[in-house]
Amino acid sequence: MARTRSPERETIRWQIAVSGTVQGVGFRPFVYRLAEKYNLAGWVCNTAAGVLIEAEGREEDLRGFLESVRSEAPALASILAVCAKMVSPAGGAGFIIRGSLDDAEIQPIVPPDVAMCADCLADISAPGNRRYRYPFTNCTNCGPRFTIIRRIPYDRPNTTMHAFRMCPECRAEYENPMDRRFHAQPNACPACGPHLSLDGKSCPDDPEVISKAAALLRDGKTLAVKGLGGYHLACDARNTEALSALRMRKGRSGKPLAMMCADLDEIRRVCEVDPVSEALLLSPERPIVLMPARPNSGISPLVAPGTASLGVMLPYTPLHQLLLAESPPSLVMTSGNLSEEPIAYRDEDALDRLGHVADHILAHNRPIHMACDDSVARVHAGAPMLIRRARGYVPRPIELDVSMPRVLACGGDLKSTFCLTKGNLALLSQHLGDLDNAPTLEHYRQSVDHCCRFFDVQPEVIAHDLHPDYHSTRYAVSVDGCRKVGVQHHHAHIASCMAENRLSGPVIGVAFDGTGCGTDGSIWGGEFLIADYDDFQRAAHLAYVPMPGGEAAIRRPGRMALAYLLHALGPSGENIGVEVVPDLSPAEAYAVRAQMERGLNAPLTSSIGRLFDAVSALLGICTDVTYEGQAAIEMEARALKPTERTYDYHVSKGASGVLEVDVRPMIAGIVEEIRQGTPVETISSTFHSTVADIVARVCRELRDTTGLNRVALSGGVFQNVLLLGMVLKRLNDSGFEVFRHSLVPCNDGGISLGQAVIAARRYAT
Ligand SMILES: [Zn+2]
Ligand SMILES: [Zn+2]
Repeated sequence: MARTRSPERETIRWQIAVSGTVQGVGFRPFVYRLAEKYNLAGWVCNTAAGVLIEAEGREEDLRGFLESVRSEAPALASILAVCAKMVSPAGGAGFIIRGSLDDAEIQPIVPPDVAMCADCLADISAPGNRRYRYPFTNCTNCGPRFTIIRRIPYDRPNTTMHAFRMCPECRAEYENPMDRRFHAQPNACPACGPHLSLDGKSCPDDPEVISKAAALLRDGKTLAVKGLGGYHLACDARNTEALSALRMRKGRSGKPLAMMCADLDEIRRVCEVDPVSEALLLSPERPIVLMPARPNSGISPLVAPGTASLGVMLPYTPLHQLLLAESPPSLVMTSGNLSEEPIAYRDEDALDRLGHVADHILAHNRPIHMACDDSVARVHAGAPMLIRRARGYVPRPIELDVSMPRVLACGGDLKSTFCLTKGNLALLSQHLGDLDNAPTLEHYRQSVDHCCRFFDVQPEVIAHDLHPDYHSTRYAVSVDGCRKVGVQHHHAHIASCMAENRLSGPVIGVAFDGTGCGTDGSIWGGEFLIADYDDFQRAAHLAYVPMPGGEAAIRRPGRMALAYLLHALGPSGENIGVEVVPDLSPAEAYAVRAQMERGLNAPLTSSIGRLFDAVSALLGICTDVTYEGQAAIEMEARALKPTERTYDYHVSKGASGVLEVDVRPMIAGIVEEIRQGTPVETISSTFHSTVADIVARVCRELRDTTGLNRVALSGGVFQNVLLLGMVLKRLNDSGFEVFRHSLVPCNDGGISLGQAVIAARRYAT
């Protein structure tokens, strides 16, 4: 700061603007306490841009104060910038916390929901405490945020707590800067705050309502439980009868269900917990963490059929904590919705939609303003990897290296998210589900509108996938008055990985997934791109095979198996298919061959996802797909050990100069081994190892021609940690610098970020 030196005792005044995640995290009381410590007068307040401070005192104290603001900020705060300037002294004594200022430009920074803290746990556990067993206890360090905020700045009247009038005791805490609940916007107690209801009957004075709900769960009943970002469906995870009823009523036959366990000891009984997973489980974000399941833990096989892992989380609200203390120690806790619909979060809607799925409904009268599912994470090689980014992480912005125009990127149709950019921040929305049903699509539209208003972003540019029939594309095209940018699916994947890792300049991008519209009209998904944000070149891909029946081939992996058999072995492939693939009838096989021969409804694909499907059907692992990625997940579960052994394949230059990977020799090798009776586990491991070998070999060839040594991995196939591990090892052994996703999903949930950066670059100047 440029200034003339003032005499030792002279009083000066600084105005300090702090931006970042600094609201709803106890920042103002922290500033207040620092001001007391350094004997400063002045004030602090929230603004739409962050926090503004004016502090007056001796220069050395102000310097110490500023240093402490930077270095001692509360754990949940995340400071982007601190700007200080000198202003005229105003005199006065004492330091105060003022009301919010509304005039500054709104920054897209709102805190995510935070899991209950240890102090609040102590409060609800102490019989003498006035919040003993109170399920809506929270403080400055924990509690609901994103899901209850109607508009910013984050002050109580702008949250769904506005209807609850604080009692004198809560008010005193709220106004006392030395109290843990100072300006805790959702502050509440049994006398003045929200309360529970069971089956529509509100029970403000019934201390036993949670015990009653827990007893119902012990009885094998299914409960709809209203949580932070929506309703869950809960039942005893060891009760197979309750689970089969739940699966039937929910219309979800095979997809794994998430669990909530009472404590870490119980999680250790049902899963193998590594240290990084443990840290994630206990983090303020409290995601669902996928971990290897332990055998003989008593957890019903209906929780996650066909997989070797369980997705488990710890209680993250006082309500969950109190319920799990008395219920069975492991509950299935799955999103309260019918198959593929959005999570229910409005009370009337929940009653409507969940009334016939759940036996009972445990709800409360604190409205949820923004629905938000649980996040899902998996750990690989000591690093977390978000598979679904939602509660706890959203709406924390992703910082980018450059300031960008205002972009709305519409994402894809599966695992959909959208992304808004403002300045150098990208705001990736929470997971919104699959858009192929009307309620989810409506939820998607509402969320886009809400977020644009919430963060005061009027998009100048709209980015979308190249697929003309995606609902997200149609939505993008329907918006008037913006420039539209179509972005190729796999380019978006690679750009997303680059943006998360703050890379510029070209990389070798490996994008492996199930389906993405290519620039040649085919279905891509086994792609090697030379890419930067501006453009990409398709440098190599898995050789095309027909996808007989189009979408039908995705639901019936046996069709893909047959396509690969006919491709690899000629006409004899048909009989082999009928012989090897369980429940592929001669009639279906004939129909598939006819479709392929006539090229009718048999689009070409280079998808690695479809190759996984084909091999899984050949091995009899998965012949009917009821949820996306099922075949690959079940394949991984059956290939427990990494191996160096590989099948043969060829890499050759196609007519257009693009490398093509021909896996016909591998298919022949797998058929040979099936006939010899080689164990499925061995074949599956060898298959994984072959795919990893392909990645390393093609990357080496591309390095030879381009000189690039950086590889970015993206696409849902890399959720497979067995494959990811083998790929990383081979790439590292070959001396590559490898980048992958961590807090942005590698699956289609991450592509809106990539679309946003690509579109922003196109209109940056
Ligand atoms: Zn707390
Ligand atoms: Zn109160």
